[in-house]
Amino acid sequence: MIECDKKGTLFVLSGPSGVGKNTLIDQFLKRNPDVHYSISATTRRPRKHEKDGSNYYFLTEEKFKAMLERGEFLEWAEFCNNLYGTPLKPIEKMLNSGIDVVMDIEIQGAKQVKDKLKEAVLVFLIPPSLAELKSRIQNRQTETEQEINARLRQALVEMDVGRMYDYYLVHDNTENTVLELEAIRQAETQKIRRINWDKVIDSLKEGFNA
Ligand code: 5GP
Repeated sequence: MIECDKKGTLFVLSGPSGVGKNTLIDQFLKRNPDVHYSISATTRRPRKHEKDGSNYYFLTEEKFKAMLERGEFLEWAEFCNNLYGTPLKPIEKMLNSGIDVVMDIEIQGAKQVKDKLKEAVLVFLIPPSLAELKSRIQNRQTETEQEINARLRQALVEMDVGRMYDYYLVHDNTENTVLELEAIRQAETQKIRRINWDKVIDSLKEGFNA
C-alpha cells in the first residue's frame, strides 16, 4: 500500500433551493459510504420528514448565537430569515483522519469556507430551467407562495455567484449527476498537491535496493 499522508477533501455543494441537493447527496452517499456528510445547525423549523441530528441540528436562535459567539462554526449565514452554520470540530476531525466530507451550504457560507480552506472543492448545482425549479419547490409543499417567490429571487442571486465555484453540475437526471460528482471527486483525489509526494516515492522504494 502506497503511503501518502492524504487528508480528506471537503466538497462544498451549493445551488438554488429546490434544485435537489438533498436527493443528489443521498444517492451519492449511498454509492460512496466512505464519504461523510456534514450535518449543519439551523434555526429553521424541521420539515415533516426531517430528524434532529440527522438532517440538521435544529437549534433555537439563542443556542445558535451562543455557538457562534464561542467560535464553534466553520462558517455560517442567514438564509431566508433563518440561521445556518457548519460545526467546525467534526469537519476538522474527519478531514484530519483522511475522510472526505460533503456539505450542502449556500453561497455566503461557501465563500467563507473557501477563504479558510483553500483546498475545499466548490461544486455548484443548477436546475435544467427556472420553471422546473419552481415546480420542484411547489411539489414538496413545504413553503408558502411567498416563501417560494423569495427562494426563486434568491436562486437568481445565487446563480450569479456560481461563477466563483470550481465545478458546475446540471441536475436533470440524478443517476447521471451522481456519476459526474464521482468523477469530480476522483479527479480531485488524484491531485498531487493533495498528497505528500516524497512519502509516495519513499514508499515505492521500500524493499528495493537498486
Ligand atoms: P433548507 O432550508 O432548504 O434546508 O436550506 C436552505 C439553504 O441553506 C440551502 O441553500 C442550504 O444549502 C443552506 N444551508 C444548509 N446548511 C447550511 C450551513 O450550515 N451553512 C450555510 N451557510 N448554509 C447552509
